Amino acid sequence: MTLNASHSAQLKSWVEAANDPLCPFPIQNLPMAIFSTSANLRKRAGVAIGDQVLDLEVLERSGLLPTGLVPNGLSPTPTAVFNRSSLNAFMALGPAVWSAVRSTISGELSKATSDWRLFSQLLTPLADAQLHMPVRVTGYTDFYASREHATNVGTLFRGAENALMANWLHMPIAYNGRASTVVVSGTAIKRPRGQIISADKPTPVFTASRKLDMELEMAALVGTANPMGDPVSVAQAQEMIFGFVLLNDWSARDIQVWEYQPLGPFLGKAFATTISPWVISREALEPFRVDGPQQDPQPLSYLRQSAPHNYAIQLQAQLNGQTITETNFKDIYWSSAQQLAHHTSGGCAMQTGDLLGSGTISGSQPGSMGSLLELTWNGEKPLTLENGDIRRFLEDGDRLSLTGYAQGEGYRIGFGEAAATILPAPSETG
Ligand code: CA
Repeated sequence: MTLNASHSAQLKSWVEAANDPLCPFPIQNLPMAIFSTSANLRKRAGVAIGDQVLDLEVLERSGLLPTGLVPNGLSPTPTAVFNRSSLNAFMALGPAVWSAVRSTISGELSKATSDWRLFSQLLTPLADAQLHMPVRVTGYTDFYASREHATNVGTLFRGAENALMANWLHMPIAYNGRASTVVVSGTAIKRPRGQIISADKPTPVFTASRKLDMELEMAALVGTANPMGDPVSVAQAQEMIFGFVLLNDWSARDIQVWEYQPLGPFLGKAFATTISPWVISREALEPFRVDGPQQDPQPLSYLRQSAPHNYAIQLQAQLNGQTITETNFKDIYWSSAQQLAHHTSGGCAMQTGDLLGSGTISGSQPGSMGSLLELTWNGEKPLTLENGDIRRFLEDGDRLSLTGYAQGEGYRIGFGEAAATILPAPSETG
């Protein structure tokens, strides 16, 4: 993928709010979501521009988008893709169509070329739009690709000498999570109950988690599939990625630490995963590609990458409105393309709608860690919030929000928000 007219920092929109340098949704972004309104309850696809949502269902029906020209497999009949309750049908069409649609929308929303009077009828204020799950998540795999995070957690769980396991520098480590409990921002999260062991007792009890945590992550969404038995290269994997969202891999540390050996996390993470509603296309992030950390030892040949596949994306987490950590996606050790290539390397088929969590993104500086486990050092060093509240882990009623953006010259590619409020655990009697 190369830079094109849609990436120009000079490009302006006739939707004036989009031209504010701090607006998360300038014309260079054009993220997609599934939305509805009180006037039209049907879920359909939209693009954010400034403070508005552009209705892609109506735009597609008008014949202005190149999706309608794509034959559906063997059928000569064009198939609409934006009148669906997920982006999956569009994501399956592949990079050439994704790019053609972006180019068309960019042209129509830019000042120079558009008949804005026609298009302004297709806009709905963002404030009036209800946002839904953007994608039908077919599979969810969560990686563990930040060296700083893996070192911190390894030190806490196993001691400094065994912090980074022998395999970590040779492959992207992951576990298979639950697609069924991936939810969109705004969905409340119930504190889980589970088996918990305490240091002074030989046997566990079944009770509400007392160490409910967040994990600040990015996630790649797989657009095009690979067949079972056909691994892909890192370069091919990069082309399969449709876009990115923010992801919070909620984690119950007291459940996790008892259950995770020998097969990895299970119920300590399976109760909920939150993603942001706007999918930022890989193409929108093209100007923000950077080299990741030097990989030493050199990865095996199937994991080597010849182009920069990391992205410079500023990230932060807020607890009850107060920023508790700031970090950056650019420092992740294994890129999303390497993660995806590794995922297919043994023959695993990846599907349209598969979600690949990056792993918790922690920086090397204090205040740049992506989990409370690290920020409070497993509760030993509590955070004191500005209002005097003390937190080791999350409490009922807490609101945790992840945000992020890539900073361009005079504009920023915003990711919106992945947020949720914590509800009490279900009662023991039901
Ligand atoms: Ca995780």
